[in-house]
Amino acid sequence: MAQLAIAMDLGTSGFRAQAIDSITSEILSTVITTRHPLPGANVIDHLHFSLEMGIDSAQSMIIHAVNRIIRDLPIQIDTVQCLCVCGNPIQLSIFQGMEIRDLSYAGKKKLDLLGITIPERGAAILPADHFPGLALPRGCNVIIPPAISHEVGADALALIMKSGMMNRNETSIAIDYGTNAEMALCHNKCIITGSTAAGPALEGQHISCGVLAIPGAISDLKPRLPYYQTIVLNQEMLPEKGAFIDMSRSGYDISPEGYRPVGITGTGTIAAIQQGIQAGLVIPPEIHTADHQLHLGEGLYLSQTDLVEAGKAIGAIRAGYITLCNEAKIALEEIVTVYMSGAAGTYVDARKAQALGLLPPCAGKIYQIGNTSLAMARDIAADIKKLDEMTVLAKRLRENYCLFASSEAFRNTYILELSHWTEGMPLSLYRSFLQRYRLPDLPPFTGTPEVIRLVKRDIDYPGRLGLITLHDIGMVKTAVFNGCTACFTCTSTCPQKAISLQTTTCPPKLTLDPSLCLGIACRRCERACPEQVFLLQRFFQNVTQTIYKNPES
Ligand code: SF4
Ligand code: SF4
Repeated sequence: MAQLAIAMDLGTSGFRAQAIDSITSEILSTVITTRHPLPGANVIDHLHFSLEMGIDSAQSMIIHAVNRIIRDLPIQIDTVQCLCVCGNPIQLSIFQGMEIRDLSYAGKKKLDLLGITIPERGAAILPADHFPGLALPRGCNVIIPPAISHEVGADALALIMKSGMMNRNETSIAIDYGTNAEMALCHNKCIITGSTAAGPALEGQHISCGVLAIPGAISDLKPRLPYYQTIVLNQEMLPEKGAFIDMSRSGYDISPEGYRPVGITGTGTIAAIQQGIQAGLVIPPEIHTADHQLHLGEGLYLSQTDLVEAGKAIGAIRAGYITLCNEAKIALEEIVTVYMSGAAGTYVDARKAQALGLLPPCAGKIYQIGNTSLAMARDIAADIKKLDEMTVLAKRLRENYCLFASSEAFRNTYILELSHWTEGMPLSLYRSFLQRYRLPDLPPFTGTPEVIRLVKRDIDYPGRLGLITLHDIGMVKTAVFNGCTACFTCTSTCPQKAISLQTTTCPPKLTLDPSLCLGIACRRCERACPEQVFLLQRFFQNVTQTIYKNPES
């Protein structure tokens, strides 16, 4: 009987898992989820949710999703010997049910004041039954790779190791483009790391017609002037030619025969904004079309709000690499090579991303390297010695990380980014402020870099048993509120349609799908309730009922 291992990436916008043969390291199958089980769209939302609703509640929801994924892998579960889980410190800490308050507050003084001890986030090999409710066979181990710091996690280590940046004698930067953007600058063989909450726009979330990188997502836009051709991910997650569109007019789709899109992913958003700027249709924060929308096909568009949302993500990343260059005391022009990872880093047109500011403007060589977090988990699952290598490297890098949350350089640069994307500050003025703050200059994008695409997809090979996409993680929460009059105000107010109301019971029963909910920063449902009885928290308290849509889960 084959002995199997599971590698898993707990991403902020969804989870990705692969079953592998432990002996041959062959990838057998892949499951991806199109949502995260916790309410919210970024790591900060997940952190705040876990703090407010309780770490146990958050952990059980993540473990439920992990179980669902494992169950959907077309393998015999009783042959699984280990599960290796990689991700950022917030996701891994919630999965382990450990202290997370230190991830919420910056500064030792504050932590001391609150009596919070920063937990050791080193490598761990734990029996599966250490995790309450984790449906793995007895004797199976769960492997957790180490973090660099409490802010820069195992996923950043994976990025550094899988890019191979340390083995080359040049100044380079590696960036994992996701809701939480991890980055590492390598200069004179010294690595400085940082991590910024870029927000969900680069993964196609919080965008009017946004979707994750799934089959049917518009991933790019090619100019075929005066029109543009959409590029859409097909069932194999490979880019395929889609319809021709006119970005300035709605409903203009001159080749409806092309592959039909279902939404716009983060990379499609980047392409549309960059092409819009080039065509003079976009001057942040405005879209200069008749209805102030960029049109990408039947019913698909980017609004001005989407533009600002994407701009904030681009701004967080640009502020991040300027801050790292400031820490290393180098100019942006010294960066020779960029490594792009993550789904956005794989599918994006690297030249468009560079023109838009998502990578340093003068880098002449760009490698697109796929999902490094999942690849690292796979390497460890196949060869446990990799865990020791990671531990040694994490220790070395611990002396050199830049905490953006307390960096004045980051704060000043990010304010300039916000001024550019939300107020329309011209980049010439932005540069003069950089000079005033004695920060590295931001030269304009000039050249045509060499782009080396090492993978075709962010998960390059899904395995001989294929790819399974899970749109529904399969858990809903129910609650009753005394005094509820079944007025439906909460259900109609929810922008995500995350709540439904059952009036056949007395009192009426409300159901919430946490994977759709925007999280505790939203709470429009609570504010809208005319009886003031709706309380989001009640869905996550013990008195509520958790319903697994599929009884086997
Ligand atoms: S309205 Fe309520 S249920 Fe809907 S997304 Fe916002 S917080 Fe979640
Ligand atoms: S808004 Fe309040 S009263 Fe109306 S259905 Fe929702 S919980 Fe009940």
